[in-house]
Amino acid sequence: MVNYQIAIDGPAGSGKSTVAKQIAKKLGFLYVDTGAMYRAVTLKTIREKIPFQNQCPIINLAKNTEIDLTIDEKIGQRVYLDGEDVTLAIRMPDVTNAVSFVSRITGVRVALVKHQQALAANNNVVMEGRDIGSVVLPNAFLKIYLTASIEERARRRFEENKTKGINTDMETLKAEIAERDLIDSTRKESPLIKVADAVEMETDSLTACQVADKIIDIFNERVENGKQD
Ligand code: C5P
Repeated sequence: MVNYQIAIDGPAGSGKSTVAKQIAKKLGFLYVDTGAMYRAVTLKTIREKIPFQNQCPIINLAKNTEIDLTIDEKIGQRVYLDGEDVTLAIRMPDVTNAVSFVSRITGVRVALVKHQQALAANNNVVMEGRDIGSVVLPNAFLKIYLTASIEERARRRFEENKTKGINTDMETLKAEIAERDLIDSTRKESPLIKVADAVEMETDSLTACQVADKIIDIFNERVENGKQD
């Protein structure tokens, strides 16, 4: 059986998660938030007090960590780290501000990409991240690259944090997002890029629902055009 793969990439706060969750729900596909995996490895690194420049122990940790993503009707996805529910813990500022230092380590990426590709091998998936269209699923049926201005992205992150009981002021968020973007898009290994065959969508003036519907329209159009049997 051939699986459908929808790859959604974009910078922090571009709306990937909300949009990807909605698409997965509407199409009945598996939703995979790859950022959550990098966050889980980062959380464990912090807990084990390994300095971020010590690549070897972090790579070993990534190889020996069990990360499970399960569907949750209410919030879309739950994340388990070695059996512990860390769904909320991985969204805390200490993890958010450290994750780019862990995700740029090649060995960590190799371990997690393997896991991500295995998930996509047996399921129809909507997978979101930074390198999905370029590295994880280079033959994806549909590739989307979402963008939004830094102001709008910070505003979205502010609202998202508020619902999780995390308080951060807007200027701090803007600076943190800009720093993470810079590291993610300039790193040597699998930087955030828009690949040539991705459809780019600017989302400042669109709701997540509108973006999701547009993507589903493109997907359906491609299916109808017989791009995949
Ligand atoms: O998507 P989210 O903002 O939760 O991702 C957290 C971090 O994980 C990103 O800033 C990036 O450093 C890393 N990441 C990555 N590759 C992916 C997904 C996330 O490097 N495919």
